[in-house]
Amino acid sequence: MIDSGVDRVVPVLSVLPEDRVLVGESARDWARGRSNGPGWMPGDPEVPVIVFPASVEEVSALVRVANEKGMRLLPAGLGSWLGGGGWTHARDVIVSCVRLNAVEHYEPADLTLTAGAGLGMTELDGVLRPNGQWLPMDAPGADAGTVGGLVACGVSGAMQGRYGAVRDNVLGIDVVTGAGRMLRIGGRVVKNVAGYDLVRLFTGSRGSLGIITSVSVRLFPRPETDVTLCYAGRAAEMAALAHAMCTSSLPVAAVGLEAGNGDTICTARLLGSAGEVEEARSRLIDNAGQEPRRIVRDDESALLHRERAAWEEGSALVVRLAALPDRLADTFERARVLAGALGGGVAADALRGAVRVKASPDAGRDEDIVRALSRARGEMEEAGGSMTLSQARGKVAARVGWAGGRGSAPALGARIKELFDPASVLASRCP
Ligand SMILES: Cc1cc2nc3c(=O)[nH]c(=O)nc-3n(C[C@H](O)[C@H](O)[C@H](O)COP(=O)(O)OP(=O)(O)OC[C@H]3O[C@@H](n4cnc5c(N)ncnc54)[C@H](O)[C@@H]3O)c2cc1C
Repeated sequence: MIDSGVDRVVPVLSVLPEDRVLVGESARDWARGRSNGPGWMPGDPEVPVIVFPASVEEVSALVRVANEKGMRLLPAGLGSWLGGGGWTHARDVIVSCVRLNAVEHYEPADLTLTAGAGLGMTELDGVLRPNGQWLPMDAPGADAGTVGGLVACGVSGAMQGRYGAVRDNVLGIDVVTGAGRMLRIGGRVVKNVAGYDLVRLFTGSRGSLGIITSVSVRLFPRPETDVTLCYAGRAAEMAALAHAMCTSSLPVAAVGLEAGNGDTICTARLLGSAGEVEEARSRLIDNAGQEPRRIVRDDESALLHRERAAWEEGSALVVRLAALPDRLADTFERARVLAGALGGGVAADALRGAVRVKASPDAGRDEDIVRALSRARGEMEEAGGSMTLSQARGKVAARVGWAGGRGSAPALGARIKELFDPASVLASRCP
């Protein structure tokens, strides 16, 4: 590593004009203001540096300088999730792609779009809305980030069952690898893969293999009607209802479960034409054998699901429990027990069998938290599932581990990283 002081900025300034470099307190403020969790981490350099390249050539020049000077770069979008997941090592410079935010190609008739990786998801929605289209990727926190960050994280949301996962809807990407190669992978208008599907490899690579500069995605017609049925009752009853909704033949876009103090809430989201939604709504109510506590429509329904995707925002401790969807009732119950120990709440995406637990700010002593988390992981693994931390304080994460036993995955990841980033100039390890 080169000097950890302000001298580190000098090579970077040879690439970018001064007004696209933040140093010291202003960089710290940028990271602190945006990141869910500690934007700047223990072990990071004393003088943080954030740069904002505005072209692929600038990204490429930064990677070249990093290779020459032995600097570590952390690719970023809006920096909304830099503290999450525990996958980054100490970094010298954060490379935010927010200046690479142009819509490069949009063909509404083909339902495809290519944009700079730094285009915000909210801005993207603003471009698509007038054409009655959308990119229905509702990953946790996705609204707060960029399209490149969405692809880099590769995590999908509650509507995956209806629209597919992020990796299914990325048609192509442009990327500058850690070795400095500029690659154009996949296509702009159709999924265009011969040989290894590198688009899938980069989707979810979390900035470990390259800096994504541009992304081509498949779009969908925005549904005419958006209706959510909200049921409330005891946890076991609501978990059974959610399971029945997931396994019915009705076109349910998302099924959620949420528990905190009081009743457990089960929500079912229906999207489509007014006729389709009305038909599904009445059959769903017949199948459930009870009237929902309330029904919300259109903007109110969309807002409810946006809030659900942002449900964990600002929490210092967030845990994910995952198992096959048909084990939902068990997973949800384990999550409730864990949430009880942490004084927090539970939200489940029933179609995927994924359950999130967030702790209350005063979750208790570290020893108690570590014990509760370790017990939950043991139980999940014994039942064939997994428990991962997605947000945690350094001390708790170090004692519990971000992920449990992952077999040969880390070794395989390290070999893939070596191919694309041989000098390890990118600060993230391969997931
Ligand atoms: C509250 C909350 C909870 C979240 N939970 C999860 C979760 O559990 N799992 C998960 O995977 N994601 C999670 N995310 C991430 C989320 O799904 C978004 O996709 C992400 O926030 C993107 O935001 P961003 O553009 O600001 O990326 P950043 O926060 O800037 O970066 C996020 C990650 O993507 C990489 N990255 C960003 N842009 C690029 C690029 N152009 N090229 C290469 N790498 C890049 C970064 O290196 C980093 O590893 C969460 C986000 C929030 C706010």
